[in-house]
Amino acid sequence: MPDSLPIRWQPERPEPGDKVPTVPAIAAMLRGARGLCPNCGKGRLFAGWLRVRPFCACCHAPVGEIRADDAPPYFTVFIVAHVVIAGQVALERFALLSVATEMAIFLPGTLALVVILIRPVKGATVGLMMKLGMMKPHAESRAGENHSDD
Ligand SMILES: [Zn+2]
Repeated sequence: MPDSLPIRWQPERPEPGDKVPTVPAIAAMLRGARGLCPNCGKGRLFAGWLRVRPFCACCHAPVGEIRADDAPPYFTVFIVAHVVIAGQVALERFALLSVATEMAIFLPGTLALVVILIRPVKGATVGLMMKLGMMKPHAESRAGENHSDD
């Protein structure tokens, strides 16, 4: 198989008569959102604030092969914008505040929401991508090892 083809990592599947289920997508996303390996739920997913470990220490799933790229920031901005805009509209409906007061509330609030949400959103994205088998090819992963992730 040429190196440029995308790889499709699969967790060890149970035998046909086995009772062990594979991980559902929602479970993989929730495990990732908690910073755990989407496959086993025991190993840690992140090696820093947003850097994904190359492999899970428990089940050796190649979580570092999953490149979420710009998806987590996009989803985070999407969520935060809806919360902040809804909050601003609700606040303007019930109270007339000065622009400076609104900025004093919403600018730090927006920043705090982004900082709070980016990591769980990235973990959930990595979990879903793992479930969907969206891994980068081996050749690209070797060339990009010196890259800092996000
Ligand atoms: Zn694992």
